Amino acid sequence: MTDHYAVFGNPIAHSKSPVIHAAFARQTGQDMDYTALLAPLDGFAECVAAFRAGGGKGANVTVPFKEAAWRLADQRTARAEAAQAVNTLRFDGTEVLGDNTDGAGLVADLTRNLGLDLRGRRILLMGAGGAARGVIQPLLVEGPAMLFIANRTPQRAIELAERFAGLGPVRGGGYEDLVGTAYDLVINATAASLAGELPPLPDGVYAGGALAYDMMYGRDTPFLQHARAAGARTADGLGMLVEQAAEAFYLWRGVRPQTTPVIALLRGESG
Ligand code: NDP
Repeated sequence: MTDHYAVFGNPIAHSKSPVIHAAFARQTGQDMDYTALLAPLDGFAECVAAFRAGGGKGANVTVPFKEAAWRLADQRTARAEAAQAVNTLRFDGTEVLGDNTDGAGLVADLTRNLGLDLRGRRILLMGAGGAARGVIQPLLVEGPAMLFIANRTPQRAIELAERFAGLGPVRGGGYEDLVGTAYDLVINATAASLAGELPPLPDGVYAGGALAYDMMYGRDTPFLQHARAAGARTADGLGMLVEQAAEAFYLWRGVRPQTTPVIALLRGESG
């Protein structure tokens, strides 16, 4: 019998997750389907309940429901607990397991696909929302020299840094605090690119040979344009998207799909 999976979000029409999971299923011979479902902003839990009642085995969760999914889960993995955000649900009988595969996806893309060794690097993470929270612990595990979290509302970044301080050298603040330090890796985990905006980065933020990584994908954002003009290497978040999907697929099916051909497939599709 075919097992059912879905991704919940609002909006969701743009989601590439159905294409990714269909490719993984083909590649690994898994009998499953995967659809994109639009949940009303005030009706996420009801949508998930209806999907489970219809035999759903698991789901991905995207903007703006990752915190709601964290609350909905009865059991959570350590990385979901650290992030206080959930992007993957697995329905085990009456229990709901919540995981967060975003951080593992980002680290896999940075280290395996882009060949970056994060040990001893200075990392700037912009944003303090669900996406940022999900990647802090996995980034610190890689042993950077320092991780600075910068946010438009500095207090949110400071609180996040305090929460993760036991795991490594992490500090938080506003964009004005970035003056005078150059970073080897600058990650845009803000929603600024969605609005076609550039976070207020000061001059000199990129060290020589730095990588600028935008979690947004599918468009040349003001952040990537600004980084290229400053001489940085750039990457969008498509690899992270495929890698976090592979982690979710593994949680559901116990099989690790190959990501390289799927990233290539999506790059071809998006032109
Ligand atoms: P949230 O809404 O939870 O957080 C938004 C963050 O962006 C906040 O820190 C907010 O600051 C900041 N922000 C919003 N607008 C601006 C702006 N104009 N200038 C500076 N900062 C701004 O969103 P998420 O964390 O869930 O998602 C962020 C991005 O990451 C999205 O683009 C999403 O698509 C992408 N993403 C990509 C993934 C992938 O697999 N590639 C996975 C997950 C997310 P403040 O606190 O001041 O409001």
